[in-house]
Order: sequence, then structure tokens, then C-alpha cells
Amino acid sequence: MANVLVFTETQGEHVKSVTLEILGKLAGHNVDVACVGSLSDIATADLAKYGAGNIHSLTGDKLDKYSPEGYSNALHGFIADKSYDYVFAGSTSLAKDLMPRLAGTFNAGMASEVINFAFEGDNFHGTRPLFAGKCLAKVELVGPKPHFVTVRPNALGLPKSPTAGAGTKALVAVSAGEITAVIQEIIKGASEKLDLTEANIIVSGGRAMKNEDNFKILHEMADVLGATVGASRAAVDSGYAAHSMQVGQTGKTVSPTLYIACGISGAIQHLAGMRTSKVIVAINTDPDAPIFTKADYGIVGDLFQIVPILTQEFKKLLN
Ligand SMILES: Cc1cc2nc3c(=O)[nH]c(=O)nc-3n(C[C@H](O)[C@H](O)[C@H](O)COP(=O)(O)OP(=O)(O)OC[C@H]3O[C@@H](n4cnc5c(N)ncnc54)[C@H](O)[C@@H]3O)c2cc1C
Repeated sequence: MANVLVFTETQGEHVKSVTLEILGKLAGHNVDVACVGSLSDIATADLAKYGAGNIHSLTGDKLDKYSPEGYSNALHGFIADKSYDYVFAGSTSLAKDLMPRLAGTFNAGMASEVINFAFEGDNFHGTRPLFAGKCLAKVELVGPKPHFVTVRPNALGLPKSPTAGAGTKALVAVSAGEITAVIQEIIKGASEKLDLTEANIIVSGGRAMKNEDNFKILHEMADVLGATVGASRAAVDSGYAAHSMQVGQTGKTVSPTLYIACGISGAIQHLAGMRTSKVIVAINTDPDAPIFTKADYGIVGDLFQIVPILTQEFKKLLN
């Protein structure tokens, strides 16, 4: 049985769902949670439901907004006198920045963006995609503990019957230490919806969308499905969509339950960002488009005809 700390981030009143996925997978281990700042009652209840033992809210000066050094110093100070074997976090934008820095301060091993893991006793074995998802590496961590792990959102899924933990809340005073690089402003992405990396359903558009206005039909479908809208690089480079919507090797890596690719050819660089989606649907006029080799369901046809029909059908089914 391992002693584990899970670092969590909040989104409004809730914790990010990847935290709950990680907690679910860690059932049977001693698991604490830490966050910077306070947690709502809803977030606390969710963490307890999914197995959190102690829930530590770290507080201190200069921690009201994210800074890589401040958060890293605060967490280092908190973790240093504890006996955690592992520190986990979801592979979010913030954690991708924070966790390697934090692992570095401990001179510790790190497995980033694992899509699955298991323990033998308290030894971690993880699986992570390499070379744009073309192969899966088995990762073990050696050397002094704690070891650090980030987990790709939506990869593990939520457990059907989570094992509850005590969920004991504690406020912990920490120091942000010296901060030399200050983040002045965080500009929100184009979509107010769930970030692509955490979305359970994604509707993406490619070059075939032809212009920004035409993305409206994808947003309409996304609204019905509770999905987030993504884009290929061709669509982004052509100015049809914001860069924050780009999926792929030089965009975001996503792992939704459902990925609907509309007018996207399926170039290797695009597949690199979405090939671990559970179900892939492709709509394309070209029956030989490479995306169909990865799609679970393919529709050969004009997206401008197909998408509105699907939206209507989804509406009937879901309302
Ligand atoms: C270093 C590098 C990094 C890259 N990173 C990324 C990345 O992160 N993400 C990414 O996406 N790309 C990336 N690319 C670009 C990638 O190689 C492709 O050029 C890009 O993915 C193509 O986008 P697309 O599929 O939208 O466009 P296209 O390849 O032009 O495909 C458009 C598709 O739409 C279909 N179509 C046309 N009209 C319709 C219609 N009316 N209805 C339905 N289907 C229609 C066509 O048959 C075609 O298959 C990268 C490239 C390089 C070199």
C-alpha cells in the first residue's frame, strides 16, 4: 500500500474530474489531497466520496493566483516533511507546468501523461504514449521518493462504485518563497466551455469548414451534446478557429469518450492528439481519407448536410 498525495485544481465549485479519476484508481492506498487555496463544500464532498483521506488546503501570501515558483515552493515545503511515496496530478495545462518543476526540486523521477497505471505493493507501473501515440511505453520509477505522476484527463474514467475516504479538511500555512517570474494575466481561451483536454465529447472541424462562421454548426451540435469544439491546425492556421482549439501534435492532446471529426483528413499530426479517444466518428467527403482508418464510425458525405441532420437527431434523442 502506497502513501499518495493527489494535487487538485478547482473549476468553480468543483474539483477537476481528472482528480476524481485518479482517486478512484488509487482505491486501497492511503490517499491525501492538496490544493492551493480553499475548497467548496461540494468539492470536499466529491473528494471524500472518491476516497480522499486528509484534504489539505494550502494557504499563504502570494498564492492567490498561479505562479510556477510560488506553487512549487509551497508544495515542496508541504511535501518535504511528509512521507508520501507518490504525488499525482491530472495532466492539465497548470500541472504540465508545475509538476516537472516540483519533481526537479526533489531530484525525483516523474512519469508524465500516463493513461493507465497499477501498483505491485507500493511500486508504480504506468503506461504512457510515446512518439505521438504510435507506441505505448511501460514506465517504472526508481530512485528517491516521492515520485511524481501526471495522468491524462479522461483516460482512466470514473469508477462506478467509488470507495469513500474520511475527507478530513485541514488548512496548512505554506510559504510561496521568492517569486521572480510573475504571471500578469491569464487570457481565457475562445470557448467558455470545458477545456478540450478535459472534455468528454469533442466536435472538431477542419479545413473543410471554409470559414469561421461555418463553425456555428459545430457549436450547435456541441451545445446539444454538451461537447467542446476543437479544430485541426489547417482550420486554425486559416483563421477559422482559435489556437486554443487546436487538437494535435502542436495543439492539445485529448482523450474524450467521443470525438467527432468533421472535414478533417486525419493527418498523422492530428491523429497524434486524438487517437486515444474512446469512440471516433469521422464525416468526410473522401472515402479514402486517412481518418477513416482510425474511425469507429464513418460517414462519407458533405459535413454541411450531415452535421445539421445529426444535430436534429441528437436533439430528439437527448431532449
Ligand atoms: C510539425 C507539424 C505539426 C503539426 N501539428 C498539427 C496539429 O497539432 N494538429 C493538426 O490538426 N495538424 C497539424 N499539422 C498539420 C497536418 O499535417 C495537416 O496539414 C492538418 O491536420 C490538416 O488539417 P485538415 O485535416 O483540416 O485539412 P485537410 O488535410 O486539407 O483535410 C480536409 C478534409 O476535409 C474533407 N472535406 C472537404 N470538404 C468537405 C465537406 N464539405 N464535408 C466533409 N469533408 C470535407 C477533405 O476530403 C479532406 O479530407 C502539423 C504539421 C506539421 C508539419
